[in-house]
Amino acid sequence: MIIVLKNNTTPEQIEAFSKKLERDYEVTVSVSYGQDSIVVGVMGDTAGIDIGTVQAQSVVRSITRVQEPYKKVNRKFHPDDSVIEIGEGCRVGGGGFTLIAGPCAVENEEQIAGIAACVKRSGACILRGGAFKPRTSPYAFQGYGAEGLELLRHARARTGLPIVSEIMAPSQLPLFEDVDIIQVGARNMQNFELLKCLGKVDRPILLKRGLASSIEEFLMSAEYIAASGNDQVILCERGIRTFETMTRNTLDISAIPIIKKVSHLPIVVDPSHAAGIPWLIEPLSMAAIAAGADGLMIEVHNDPANAMCDGAQSITPEHFDAIARRVREVAPIFGKTFA
Ligand code: PEP
Ligand code: MN
Repeated sequence: MIIVLKNNTTPEQIEAFSKKLERDYEVTVSVSYGQDSIVVGVMGDTAGIDIGTVQAQSVVRSITRVQEPYKKVNRKFHPDDSVIEIGEGCRVGGGGFTLIAGPCAVENEEQIAGIAACVKRSGACILRGGAFKPRTSPYAFQGYGAEGLELLRHARARTGLPIVSEIMAPSQLPLFEDVDIIQVGARNMQNFELLKCLGKVDRPILLKRGLASSIEEFLMSAEYIAASGNDQVILCERGIRTFETMTRNTLDISAIPIIKKVSHLPIVVDPSHAAGIPWLIEPLSMAAIAAGADGLMIEVHNDPANAMCDGAQSITPEHFDAIARRVREVAPIFGKTFA
């Protein structure tokens, strides 16, 4: 349920109104101050709330029952775009366009530091790199784990770029203590215990869409994180499985404007895992900008042919630079600023 309050409602009145709702109906309340509205989101079992009684309060302008199962991530609860701040000078959402780039997996110090310096020069403001790799085969390279995270930290120290890396289990959380953004991969999108655990972390979470998940399921996973207390969620559309065999996955372009319409969370697009082919990354990136995405996450490798993971879809730093130049030209046409 959302209750819009009159614009002249004082902070004391908002506090008293919220407390009374929580006390009388055993619900949780979150207040969002939009550009031209004060929205009180009511979560929990709202069936017992008597609309007439609430409507009679002098501070209330309107009441709407929210049909969607996602509440905290629903734009109705928070009309303005959420902006996720990642350290100094880097943010996701709110009119800027963010480039996240780096290798699929961290391989060695030279590799990650070299790629980090290149992508930074091209305009990336976040460095990605997998230390724990969810592989289809148990015999494939699984990532360098804690050591990989350490190499990622070194690359951060050398370049100043904040880092994002994938967590696979709650037990790994202590290793991620100073990782700037914690990634939940497609395969773990519905690992609800992991999501609840990340809801208690005070750090941004990059949540990737599951391989065969609907948009609503995707948003419900974000809701798990938000409902547990962490509203710093960045969504990532990375393609879904379809009958098509000419691409690794099918980039669901329509998910971007749909999510922008129904949710206030920022959404970035990963064209690398969607396409699985280097030459498709540029056109999919352009499509993502046109559809309203807040950024891109692209796999970049100095030597794709010898990469330990996902070399087939990785692009070189030079190719990434060319795409970044096009992003610089195209993003402003679609209302985004790219510094
Ligand atoms: C990744 O980004 O490294 C990754 C494994 O992607 P996904 O979870 O989308 O398959
Ligand atoms: Mn990969």
